[in-house]
Amino acid sequence: MIKPNRHYAELKDSYLFYNISGKTKAYLEENPGAHLYRLGIGDVSLPLCREVISALHSAVDDQASAATFHGYMPECGADFLREAVRRHYACRGVTLAADEVFVSSGASDELGDILDLFSSDNSVLIMEPAYPAYVDANVIAGHRLIHLPSGRENGFLPLPSPELDADLIYICSPNNPTGAAFDRTGLSKWVEFANSRGAVIIFDAAYEAFIESEEIPHSIFEIDGARTCAIEICSLSKTAGFTGTRCGYTVIPKELVRDGMEFNAMWVRNRTTKTNGVSYIIQKGAAAVFTEEGQRQIAENIAVYKRNARCLTEALDKCGIWYCGGKNAPYIWLQCPQGMGSWEFFDYLLREAQIVGTPGEGFGACGEGYFRFSTFGDVKDTEEAARRLTELFGPQGTGR
Ligand code: PLP
Repeated sequence: MIKPNRHYAELKDSYLFYNISGKTKAYLEENPGAHLYRLGIGDVSLPLCREVISALHSAVDDQASAATFHGYMPECGADFLREAVRRHYACRGVTLAADEVFVSSGASDELGDILDLFSSDNSVLIMEPAYPAYVDANVIAGHRLIHLPSGRENGFLPLPSPELDADLIYICSPNNPTGAAFDRTGLSKWVEFANSRGAVIIFDAAYEAFIESEEIPHSIFEIDGARTCAIEICSLSKTAGFTGTRCGYTVIPKELVRDGMEFNAMWVRNRTTKTNGVSYIIQKGAAAVFTEEGQRQIAENIAVYKRNARCLTEALDKCGIWYCGGKNAPYIWLQCPQGMGSWEFFDYLLREAQIVGTPGEGFGACGEGYFRFSTFGDVKDTEEAARRLTELFGPQGTGR
């Protein structure tokens, strides 16, 4: 009889978003017609920029005539897009070869698939609070997990220590859910640690486009030594509104070698076996993001989310509520006021202010007592949510 992968039985129920939608639905049933201020969503709300839309339209037209039609695309990505990403990195002072860039259908696919490159007896370090997919993908693969909790005392940016017995290390910077981001010094410590023990870092750069501070690297390859220990996974989802359009890219340097095996060559073999490439139309749309005009237009959209972030952080400042993030990231991570627990605060905000956020406990045990606001929501709703927060917890606030 076929043996199923028993590791699926070890997965914890993904109750977080299920619970949020259940509680929200129940509230709306009890309060028909109530308007909710949704600061929980991790999806974008603004449409694709004009430059991308016009590239998508013209790529559709290309498919209409034999002279410009494209069938299967190269499995590792179209040369025009790999080259556009290479030039983008070069503008930031990072030298890559175009064949170190692999075009993907988004970061989620890559975060799971990349585990094919590693033996299942590796230990995997996950800094918590964490994006839940890191844990689940590694549970499914049967890997031994090391949970590294972080907290307010280290600004939710934990550093390596010699006793950490990690082979594979996940770093998400800027971070979902905390919005915290490693500066060059912090990231260099992780790179040194990984090189010293032959570990590999999976660097999730899904939110790099939100970085404002000069001290925060956009890419781990800005750090000396990263080419021998890191894989970078990037996404156009939040950078350019591609959550429903689907495109990303992964960088694997040729110097990344363990036990005589080159991870770049292994990934070529993996992709040529397991994919037939990302669609021509989508790759054309993605390449438009890297034109001068595309970069200008995506910056306009990001500026809208950043205004949302400022609006919320100003309200939290007025309320004297501790938070991190919101500057180099689209997430704000706050300590629940008045000692409330994550779910207690969720219920309280929903009942008293009709605000929906995300309880921190859903991102790992050390997230208990914290809460995540997303800044991807509607501008007017975000402004009203900020006003309601100030009304509840500000100097003249009514509190609980
Ligand atoms: N990595 C992080 C940290 C994310 O928050 C997300 C999506 O929310 C992803 C990866 C997945 O991105 P994609 O839409 O490219 O699959």
